[in-house]
Amino acid sequence: MKRNIIAVIGALAAVAILITVLAFSSEKNNTEPSLTYHVNQGFVFGTYYNIRYEAPADLQDTIEACLRHFDFSLSTFNPNSTISLINLNKSDLTDDLFENMYRVAERVSEWSDGAFDITVAPLVNLWGFGFKNRQEATQERIDSIMPLVGYKKISLNDHHLLKQDKRILLDASAVAKGYSCDVVADLLRSLGCNNYLVDIGGEVVCRGLNDQHQPWGIGITKPVDDTTGQQTDIQAIVRSTNLCMATSGNYRQFYYDNGIRRSHTINPRTGYPVNHSLLSATIIAPSCAQADALATACMVLGDQKALQLIEQLNNTECYLIVFDSISQQNIVRQSKGMAHYLKK
Ligand code: ADP
Ligand code: MG
Repeated sequence: MKRNIIAVIGALAAVAILITVLAFSSEKNNTEPSLTYHVNQGFVFGTYYNIRYEAPADLQDTIEACLRHFDFSLSTFNPNSTISLINLNKSDLTDDLFENMYRVAERVSEWSDGAFDITVAPLVNLWGFGFKNRQEATQERIDSIMPLVGYKKISLNDHHLLKQDKRILLDASAVAKGYSCDVVADLLRSLGCNNYLVDIGGEVVCRGLNDQHQPWGIGITKPVDDTTGQQTDIQAIVRSTNLCMATSGNYRQFYYDNGIRRSHTINPRTGYPVNHSLLSATIIAPSCAQADALATACMVLGDQKALQLIEQLNNTECYLIVFDSISQQNIVRQSKGMAHYLKK
């Protein structure tokens, strides 16, 4: 985790700037100042946030308090969070945020037949992408961890999280960022905002119009291998007045180990990082938590199974960028309803 933090922050800031530009881009040149749109930016959960909304007053303090509350539930990097206390076996008590996250995670685990699984944490740690230091990932270690992995080995019962084995660890990273966008969006709506865009680490919830009275524009980044994240070329732009969208990719968080590429998406069934031609998965879903978890599930499943899964789900779309070994080019595979969201 300590590796290249500055590069990661640089990467995240670059994405933030990109989304900023898109959010403000407009086809019409409106000279009227829109004094009621606020822009709040900062860092949270080891990533950036970039939140825009129309309101009578700035709400950054309220938003930050909401994010701190969220961190105190679901961040594995906060040793006193609900999820950390459960991981440390100091408590088995859950809270509302944890329970909502858990229900989404369980649903996506079931839909994806275990491709998405929050009990993957010990493997994520072993491969060096988690909240504990990386160890050499020997087959022996992987074999010893596998009995601790499996979403059916945990359950939620009357505000208690039950584990079949005390050594089971949970990692909500692949759903929490998206869920935090839902929570901030709910907060803004409860405060009377109808026009907003909440972007936390590239996961987005938007509603209404931007300050130029246009639908919000959100870029889908080209999946170019780049651990510094300075590459922010846009592959496509999604425009909407009401959407939850998340992207997973293996082009920023990876390393090479003896010539083998290791990415941060782990297949819970094999214990190994996934390594296939699906470079990034962008998902639109009824909630951003669901979009986020589905995006990771798709990265595990690979493009064919991912497309099948997404086509089965209501109000859910995908935009998959796949490396085609025959043409040696990236190609796009998208669900039937995705075209509706892409810029004409
Ligand atoms: P991305 O933007 O690529 O989706 P995320 O941070 O949202 O990145 O999710 C990746 C993180 O999810 C990993 O760093 C790891 O903590 C966790 N993770 C990896 N594989 C899985 C999996 N199969 N199921 C659930 N979580 C996973
Ligand atoms: Mg994600």
